[in-house]
Amino acid sequence: MNICAGFRKRYKMKKLTSIIVVAALFASALCACSLGKGSSDPDEKSLSFEAMDTFISAKLYGAEQETADKIESEIKRLDSELSVVNAEGENNYVYRLNRDSSAKVSDDVAELARQSLELCESTNGALDVTVYPFIEEWGFVSKDYKIPSKSRLAQLLPLVDYRNAVQSGSKLSFKKDGMKLDFGAVAKGYAADMVRGILKDKASSAIVNLGGTVLAYGKKPDGSQWRVGVADPDNSASYMGTLSCADKIIATSGSYERCFTGDDGKTYSHIIDPKTGIPVDNGILSVTVISNSGARSDALSTALFVMGKDGAEKYYRENKNFDFIILTADKKAYVTAGVYDDFKLADGYDYEIFKVE
Ligand code: ADP
Ligand code: MG
Repeated sequence: MNICAGFRKRYKMKKLTSIIVVAALFASALCACSLGKGSSDPDEKSLSFEAMDTFISAKLYGAEQETADKIESEIKRLDSELSVVNAEGENNYVYRLNRDSSAKVSDDVAELARQSLELCESTNGALDVTVYPFIEEWGFVSKDYKIPSKSRLAQLLPLVDYRNAVQSGSKLSFKKDGMKLDFGAVAKGYAADMVRGILKDKASSAIVNLGGTVLAYGKKPDGSQWRVGVADPDNSASYMGTLSCADKIIATSGSYERCFTGDDGKTYSHIIDPKTGIPVDNGILSVTVISNSGARSDALSTALFVMGKDGAEKYYRENKNFDFIILTADKKAYVTAGVYDDFKLADGYDYEIFKVE
């Protein structure tokens, strides 16, 4: 069993790549700034640390150091509350829920669960926060990748159904023993929402990158829009296009992020169809979702991936509370009307662009 081409390097690089992509744009943003304001900005606070299995970085404008410190401590707190693997600490609510099939959780975990379960319902289970038994079975947790047998997948299937995860206020419980919950597809987006709450009235603008989920808070200090890179699926250290935006949260799910090539020669990605237990293979390379809710952007980047291009377009027309950029293996980019004019291909990229209305 091989790790897919470039994966070993890419996996180690994963956390870095998103940073590099956004850092490149930070640089251009700062360049633009420096033309009018001088080269260093005393009003800028930088932040970078590791949490949520990724690198997190931010640039805050018009903010006190206290606000930067609070962002770091609150994200670290949320990280330990949501951890599925770490048994230590009194506040490891999700770990405890998975161990005991029932747990009283913090306000944040309860709110994340409420929003996540709503998104599971609204996407008709394309997003399913109880998909974890499959994630484990394919080796995406241990990194000991394997293709499970059909009978093993059939055995696990009854454990995967968000409708059997019950919430009553701050209490979460499972209807079946052996179920496991994991907010991996939504947590970074929820954290971005939390950061936005901390920044409110405490910063004039900010750009925050949570391992590829980006919060563009307000506008750039010079009053222009932020530019956020959309990673090139063939080389995620580069970006294939840029999106101009303000006051949005942008999340990307890519099949190139965590994948392996099985003994059968096929490449398997970390995004799993909860109805089959099998990694999605539908010609989509990445889904970027833009909205004013981080939880929604993050959840939908995963869910639309599972739905496929046609399903994603249908869901968009029925909901219209987000925009997307879908990149496919045949070099097509499907871009919804709300961001169509804000999206620009980078030099040297020749995607055929389709407007989705
Ligand atoms: P990333 O975490 O790489 O930014 P995503 O936001 O797409 O990417 O989240 C993918 C993670 O979500 C997977 O690693 C897995 O833990 C989990 N996951 C995979 N498929 C699903 C699904 N259909 N519904 C909910 N969670 C999923
Ligand atoms: Mg996601």
